[in-house]
This record gives sequence, C-alpha cells and structure tokens, in this order.
Amino acid sequence: MSNFAIGVDIGGTNLKMGLVNQEGLILDEMSTSLNRNDAGIADISFICQQIASFIDKNKEADGLLKGIGIASPGILDTEKGIVQYAVNLGWYEVPLIDFIQVQLKLPVRLVGDAAAGAIGESKFGAGCRLSSFLYVCLGTGVGAGLILKGKIYEGDWGPIINIGHTSVIPDGLPCKCGNLGCLENYVSASAVKERTGTDAQQVYEAASNGDLYARSLFQEVGELLGISLVNCMQLFGVGNVIIGGGMSRAGNVLLDPVRATVLKRMHPSGSLSVQITPAAFTSTAGILGAAALHF
Ligand SMILES: [Zn+2]
Repeated sequence: MSNFAIGVDIGGTNLKMGLVNQEGLILDEMSTSLNRNDAGIADISFICQQIASFIDKNKEADGLLKGIGIASPGILDTEKGIVQYAVNLGWYEVPLIDFIQVQLKLPVRLVGDAAAGAIGESKFGAGCRLSSFLYVCLGTGVGAGLILKGKIYEGDWGPIINIGHTSVIPDGLPCKCGNLGCLENYVSASAVKERTGTDAQQVYEAASNGDLYARSLFQEVGELLGISLVNCMQLFGVGNVIIGGGMSRAGNVLLDPVRATVLKRMHPSGSLSVQITPAAFTSTAGILGAAALHF
C-alpha cells in the first residue's frame, strides 16, 4: 500500500489542495477561493477547515496519511513554521504550522510556493533526472526555486529565489519592492493583462494563431525573461531551467524567444550545457512538492 500526504498550495486568490501518493499521483483535488476578512487578511481558520473536510472526504487514506505540506507565498521561517511576511495574504509573523498542527493533529510542514513547485518537478516531473536546476513559476507573480545537487536551496529569506524582482530594465517601471524595471512587472500574467486588457491566456492563443501584436509581446516577454535567466544561470552555475506556472501554457510562443535570448547571451561549452524545458505540471507542481515533504 502506498503512503499518502496532503499538499496545500495557498495562492493570492485561490486555495488548492490534493491527496498525493508516494508515486506522485494526485488522487483527489480541490480548489476554492481564499476567504479574507474586511481588512483583506486571509483567514487561517477557513484554510484549516477546508483541509479538515478534504481529509474527511478522503477517508481511504486514513492510517496511511503521513502529513500535510503547506506551500505559502512570502518570506518564511520553514524551521519554525512561521510565515514572516506575505504581502498578498496580509500575513505578518503568522505561526501557520503550529496552528494547523494543533487543529488537525497531523505532522505539518511549510515550504515556499515556488520552492514547492521546484520540489514537485524534481521528484515527479521535468526535473526528475536533473541534480540541479532553476524552476521558474510564471503566474500572477514570478517566483523561482533552485534545486542544487538534489536539495532545495534555502537562504536567509527561506527557500526563495526572488527572480521576479531582478531588474531587467535599469530605468524601467517602478516596482512595489523599491527597485526599478523588475522582471515581474513585464512577464507575469498580471503584467500581460495590464498591458493588453486581456487575459494572458487569450493573448497567447492570439499569438499561436499568428496575431502580430500578441507575437511581438511574447517576443519581448521571452527576451526579458531570457536576460534574467542568463544572470541567474551565471550566478548559480546552473544550466537547466524549467519554466512552469500558468503562463508556461503558452509553450513555444514563449519558450522560443527565451531560448534564442539565452543562447545569444550565453555560450554553452564543455560541461556547461543549457536547457530550457517546460514544466511537467503547470498548475499542480506546488501541491505535489508540498506533499513530497512527507515522502
Ligand atoms: Zn520588484
């Protein structure tokens, strides 16, 4: 019999979770809007209740359920299980793991959202044969996780690679982080929506159908992402990149200009090989990676 774990992915607008077995199969999945109070603070009791009823619904996992993995945005102390600061959730110094553990009486672990995606791809997806790679999640925001020699990289700010706030245009748009020209303000799904007034999905469908404006927009998005990736690859000495998140559904419309830019600015030689690969899981890598903390 396989062991199971629950993977929970807390996003800016949605709460997603899945029952995952040790082989990385999602046997049941749910998604709901995140409840917030009048001050816009995400409701932790609501999250806890949703997990409890999901466990209740999946009684067949009883006894084989190893625990719950929570993927959260923000700056985290994963050892202590504290969300130190998550601007999109209105959380500041929230002892998330203690709270859920006491309520649900199961082992609970915390991981960064993009780091969970990296772990999910590493264990079960496009990175399962790679010892090191950078995983970039292109969604409402832009985050990244770094797998180095099979382990998730963790710095002083937790397991977070803030690629979305690397500057790609020195005198570009002012960013909420204080910098100018941050990548996130150009290549995220929300940036594309802001520029076009249309959902990113419709824009890449238009690009796939040959619409010239949509193609030129994805050309620009791909080039800027490529510039930032070259910086990261040079910095970390990692040649493999996996692109995930909702925007990665654009496929080669996005990846072709990314690859062209990377190859123009970086010359693979000897042991330095460069590979830009689409993720295996565009929307469930976080659930899988969070659950995998228990396997
Ligand atoms: Zn920024």
